[in-house]
Amino acid sequence: MAEMVRFDNVGKRYDSGVDALSGITFSLDAGEIAFLTGRSGAGKSTLLKLITLIDRATRGQIYIGGKNLTSVKRRQIPYFRRDIGIVFQQPKLLADRTVFDNVALPLIISGNFHHAEIGRRVRASLDKVGLLDKERAFPPQLSGGEQQRVGIARAVVNRPPLLVADEPTGNLDPALSAEIMNLFDQFSRVGTTVLIASHDLALISRMGRRVLTLQGGALMSSGAAPP
Ligand code: ADP
Repeated sequence: MAEMVRFDNVGKRYDSGVDALSGITFSLDAGEIAFLTGRSGAGKSTLLKLITLIDRATRGQIYIGGKNLTSVKRRQIPYFRRDIGIVFQQPKLLADRTVFDNVALPLIISGNFHHAEIGRRVRASLDKVGLLDKERAFPPQLSGGEQQRVGIARAVVNRPPLLVADEPTGNLDPALSAEIMNLFDQFSRVGTTVLIASHDLALISRMGRRVLTLQGGALMSSGAAPP
């Protein structure tokens, strides 16, 4: 199977001198779903920031879809990022725009899509997260779980091969959290690679998928799902 993500002895030292990550080596196949866990400060957010080129590694090599990130120049970063869906803890929706407009935003920004195609893609995304009937609603009228699902629809509207999520269920109750995780699971089943940073160990173990564990910036295990 094709590799979507590869870390080769990656390190990140912040200007402050903190080694947030060291000696990180792992890979994710296309369509694989994995959780990234570890205590607060273990380096989870830093690892995701290196994948999305919000920040750069200071050692080693990272390949996304076979592309070495060292070769991605600063001005190319917005184009590179179009192939990665990013889900945040807070979905950061525009309160004065409809659900439809919020999800359409990445397509409008890219400038590559006709009106009709935007409509088709937005509705396909909203359908996947079960919110087709909310396209005319405004975010403040939605529950927290629904707002997070709008954020996920926006993240996948470009049909990215890779989806990364940083504590996507941090603000949700257990039932809604499980629902969101099941959504990610469904995306992986249709070929999207998914990496989810989370410290919700109970939920992660129920999912029964691969777990990457960080401790003090080092990868403790990158193995198969726990029994
Ligand atoms: P996690 O997401 O697992 O909580 P982080 O990746 O946020 O961990 O942080 C890893 C380490 O790097 C911590 O020691 C944190 O204080 C440090 N760190 C994170 N961001 C920065 C930054 N911008 N500058 C300096 N140190 C940072």
